[in-house]
Amino acid sequence: MSRVKRLAIIGVGLIGGSLALALRRGGYVAEVVGCGRRIEALRGAQQLGIIDRWETEPALAAEGADMVVVAVPVGAMEAVFRSLAGCLSAQSVLTDVGSTKGQVVEAARAAFGIPAANFVPGHPIAGTERSGYQAAFPELFEGRRVILTPLAETDAAAVHKVRGMWQHTGAEVVEMAVRHHDEILAATSHLPHVLAYSLVHTLAGMDESWEIFRYAAGGFRDFTRIAASDPGMWRDICLGNKAAILECLRRFTDDLDRLRLAIEASDGEHLIAAFSRAKQARDHFAASL
Ligand code: NAP
Repeated sequence: MSRVKRLAIIGVGLIGGSLALALRRGGYVAEVVGCGRRIEALRGAQQLGIIDRWETEPALAAEGADMVVVAVPVGAMEAVFRSLAGCLSAQSVLTDVGSTKGQVVEAARAAFGIPAANFVPGHPIAGTERSGYQAAFPELFEGRRVILTPLAETDAAAVHKVRGMWQHTGAEVVEMAVRHHDEILAATSHLPHVLAYSLVHTLAGMDESWEIFRYAAGGFRDFTRIAASDPGMWRDICLGNKAAILECLRRFTDDLDRLRLAIEASDGEHLIAAFSRAKQARDHFAASL
């Protein structure tokens, strides 16, 4: 028997679409209703079997759903929450997949007043640089982590239901405080995206950029892959997790300045020490994967 009778996915893109596909496997969900702004995209998702039917209004999509997953860019969450306010039944569980959590919790507070006991903020630590329902695939979350950041008022049964849903996708579910999530993700995901965008932006502005990209090797490709991610999504994330990202950027630019000074001063010892420490940390991290 299906564990979720009707799943509403608001935002049928890479993450929302992949979740729907993963939950369809083994019949975990009986019916999937998709929601988005572009009808042609919703039709495409329906044709690929990601969703059974669709609506363009979140409130209509969520009608009668026992699980509602909001998977739109974080800057669009508040508007979606506002259109859901007053429409969810006491039995329906609401969760999101946003990459920032403080901002999403604030958006929920603004839309619902006192945050609903059945709202479980979440974030799957999985993704690719691609976007849209065409990029969705059911294995995306296998062996990956999903962080839930329940609030003091969140109902334990709602957390249990969201945990079970993610476990069915093959993910490991962990819980964390909202602020801790935002600090950790600023360092491990948000800062690297800012650096990748910044590097490619700088190189693209150089006179000889065509030559530079022509001779780019594997290392450059690895380091810059994430600069192909959706710009609007990353604008929202940077503005939504401003304080934590700025703190990481401050530390990073201080370290970068020290490297620049060492190169200027031909201080090879400083470079060896900094690079060796980084290599040791990277080797240790790679061994733990
Ligand atoms: P995506 O592929 O671009 O999908 C976003 C979906 O939301 C689209 O189907 C889009 O459809 C819909 N949408 C966009 N703006 C909307 C709005 N204002 N109102 C209603 N629907 C809207 O993005 P994604 O990568 O799945 O990311 C979705 C969420 O997951 C974001 O909050 C992101 O922070 C989070 N996340 C992403 C990753 C990643 O690596 N990509 C990883 C973890 C978490 P329409 O344009 O047709 O409306």
